Amino acid sequence: MIRAFVALDLPPAVKATLADLRAGVAGARWTDPADLHLTLRFVGEVPEDRLEEVHLALDEIRAPAFDLTLEGVGQFGQGARSRLLWAGVAASPALAHLQAKVESAVVRAGEPTETRRFTPHVTLARLDRQAHPDRLRRFVEGNALLRAGPMPVDRFVLFESRPGSGRPRYLPLQDYPLLG
Ligand code: ATP
Ligand code: MG
Repeated sequence: MIRAFVALDLPPAVKATLADLRAGVAGARWTDPADLHLTLRFVGEVPEDRLEEVHLALDEIRAPAFDLTLEGVGQFGQGARSRLLWAGVAASPALAHLQAKVESAVVRAGEPTETRRFTPHVTLARLDRQAHPDRLRRFVEGNALLRAGPMPVDRFVLFESRPGSGRPRYLPLQDYPLLG
């Protein structure tokens, strides 16, 4: 079985901007800058032949390249249930269009439909239980004006998420170019 997901990689300059945010929140486990990405669709654990079907379906996608801007930060979960800090994404019909195509391709390949609404974000940190609410609030308020980009999005990527002793490693398996 291979654990896979479809995502946008981010340009080095955007990763560097986001990497600069990694401070001041005790209990935050920051995403390694190299691992920063925007998930379009989590595929999950699939047998290798099923992953090949997913690849073939993704390979059929014809969607235009576009520009994307990251905007602001937020958290999933509130108070004691805070679990994740993220960077937000400026509204983008082109991103929604691409995500819908990726979703239908993955379903065409035989995977179940994702029932949760797509909430585009870049995970900045996982939060331990003891992350302090005041520090979280200060982080979110202090970075409300974050802007990174606009960045050109000219491809999307099928990644393997390979479990290890610590954080999983994300390995790019295949790039899919968008139409320039
Ligand atoms: P860990 O699960 O060990 O904390 P991780 O979440 O970074 O690490 P994966 O669970 O393999 O690694 O997830 C890979 C990518 O897919 C991440 O961007 C993650 O946020 C996203 N993802 C994982 N599970 C889901 C899910 N059920 N729905 C939507 N996205 C998911
Ligand atoms: Mg996970």
